[in-house]
Amino acid sequence: MQTPHQQLDALLTELDPKKSLVFLTGAGVSAESGIPTFRGKGGYWTVGSKVYQPQQMATWLNFEKQPREVWRWYLYRRGVCRAGAPNAAHRALVELERARPAVFHLITQNIDGLHRIAGNSADRTYEIHGTGEEMRCAERCTDARYPIPEGVKDKAQDDPLPDAEYALLCCPRCGGLARPHVLWFDEYYEEELYRSNTAMIAAHTASVMVVAGTSGATSLPVQAVTVALKAGAVLIDINPNPNPFRELADQYYRGLSLRGSATEWMPEVVQRLKG
Ligand code: NAD
Repeated sequence: MQTPHQQLDALLTELDPKKSLVFLTGAGVSAESGIPTFRGKGGYWTVGSKVYQPQQMATWLNFEKQPREVWRWYLYRRGVCRAGAPNAAHRALVELERARPAVFHLITQNIDGLHRIAGNSADRTYEIHGTGEEMRCAERCTDARYPIPEGVKDKAQDDPLPDAEYALLCCPRCGGLARPHVLWFDEYYEEELYRSNTAMIAAHTASVMVVAGTSGATSLPVQAVTVALKAGAVLIDINPNPNPFRELADQYYRGLSLRGSATEWMPEVVQRLKG
């Protein structure tokens, strides 16, 4: 019986050097940076006596109904994200991009910006769910993205969003309300905003697809993995808990599930792919 380390060695030798090395990361990769996952503790939000799950807060319909509350939630989440620093898994991916820049692709569902802060390039990091650091016009007078103005502060759970700060959350072009630059649960992927086609093209050309820290609850990650498998890629899942990608990796003859944390396994995987 081979150890996971030996299985990794066997799967990752003799990959086509011209094909892509594709990584797909979710909230679990930032969990060890102190940023809670949605399905973990602390994902909910209370407005008065009503308790909201993230799937209820993060929708266009909810933003239309209570934009100020949605902004307050995102400013709270931005504070949580800003308190976290890149961990060993983020750093390993920077090392790999530097070693293999022509074939490296990073698809991330995270809006915390930690991959970019660690040093991965904007060109090769596809933030398919946007970023909590930017805003754009809610009425879509333009697709331009703007930094959230400096006068707008991060919030603690019970902090109000003062009128003066809320007034700054407007589109610099038309003056209308701005929204966080994130993909909500009742919206769809678009290349112009989220580079979703670029991410799918990368998946098509993958020699290896490494999925780390995601529960597979959103559609593009599932499609990207399906496409990569059809193209014959090796599939590796890094996750301490059961999830659909683990099941797939366990059934697939070129798959491997690494049952542990992102900081434990990502550096190991990267070491073998650096060439
Ligand atoms: P999820 O919360 O649905 O699932 C997280 C997954 O990470 C789980 O499968 C869990 O077992 C795994 N995990 C937990 N700790 C881990 C660790 N140390 N190492 C590896 N894996 C670990 O997250 P998701 O699949 O990314 O989807 C949730 C949505 O929530 C996404 O759209 C994302 O944009 C958003 N989100 C982002 C952040 C962030 O930016 N850091 C945080 C929470 C949610």
